[in-house]
Amino acid sequence: KAKDEGGNSHFQYMPALHAHAEERRKLEGALRHAIANDEMELHFQPVVDARSEHIVSFEALLRWNSKEHGPVSPAKFIPLAEDTRLIVPVGDWVLREACREAARWPDEIKVAVNVSGEQLLEPAFASTIVRALAETGLPAHRLEVEVTESVFLRDGRTARQTLEEIMALGCSIALDDFGTGYSSLGYLRTLRFSTIKVDRSFVQGAAQDSQESLAIIRAVVAMAHSLDMSTTAEGVEDAEQAALIRELGCTKIQGYYFGRPMPAQEARSLVVKGRQAA
Ligand code: C2E
Ligand code: MG
Ligand code: MG
Ligand code: MG
Repeated sequence: KAKDEGGNSHFQYMPALHAHAEERRKLEGALRHAIANDEMELHFQPVVDARSEHIVSFEALLRWNSKEHGPVSPAKFIPLAEDTRLIVPVGDWVLREACREAARWPDEIKVAVNVSGEQLLEPAFASTIVRALAETGLPAHRLEVEVTESVFLRDGRTARQTLEEIMALGCSIALDDFGTGYSSLGYLRTLRFSTIKVDRSFVQGAAQDSQESLAIIRAVVAMAHSLDMSTTAEGVEDAEQAALIRELGCTKIQGYYFGRPMPAQEARSLVVKGRQAA
């Protein structure tokens, strides 16, 4: 029967394809009800000043613990949420929860929220932010919106306009995962990002003595400095990497070395404690 199998090979991989589509459909169905089912939670990862090592902000990172599928990685459900546009309601929830939590922290600590291109292209996205701030009482200057270079791909003009509206509210904008997307320096010329986040891959490269990674980090730091933007090194995992990054002149550091993403309660007690010690 080998000949039949060869001749009808599509019958053999059809089930796999089908299973994949089926799994996706199930996951999508579960994602649709994740918020109502109380399965979503925000974790918060500290970002520290490279010199003082004091916490300057937390990045809000979404966690999904599905009753049906168990914990699902953001690497899996964020792209699914983007494809299905569920990221719009989910992102609204993230924004509100992140602002609500940040309003309880000391005044000097900001919260950074990841925003997808699909959200940015929603006509009323800036008013979603206005509402989240109003509902939670968080001052605009304590909210930082993180976007990746990919938000400029589809409709760069609209994305840029919305980011300008958000900046006009008093929020800051960070350029996330810098160097991994379709890097174009054009928007660095016209958009006033407050922070460029150097992707973890460069930090890891530099830590392994990659001359290319070192050169790129140096160049990004110099460029950010002359554009009056700060830099955050992502994915710093030990003391050695932290020392290297400090030497390279990054302004801020984020990574497991200074803290993993943690539940809101833990983040809160960390900053309250930090304050009492100071
Ligand atoms: P990101 O915005 O670049 O977030 C940083 C990611 O790096 C997080 O992964 C964080 O847990 C991880 N990370 C931080 N420090 C270290 C480290 O020292 N070593 C290593 N190996 N990893 C580290 P996470 O939480 O799995 O999120 C992955 C991505 O999912 C995020 O990347 C972001 O693009 C997206 N994401 C997460 N939450 C949201 C959200 O609420 N909305 C949107 N639109 N995207 C989100
Ligand atoms: Mg981010
Ligand atoms: Mg990042
Ligand atoms: Mg990333």
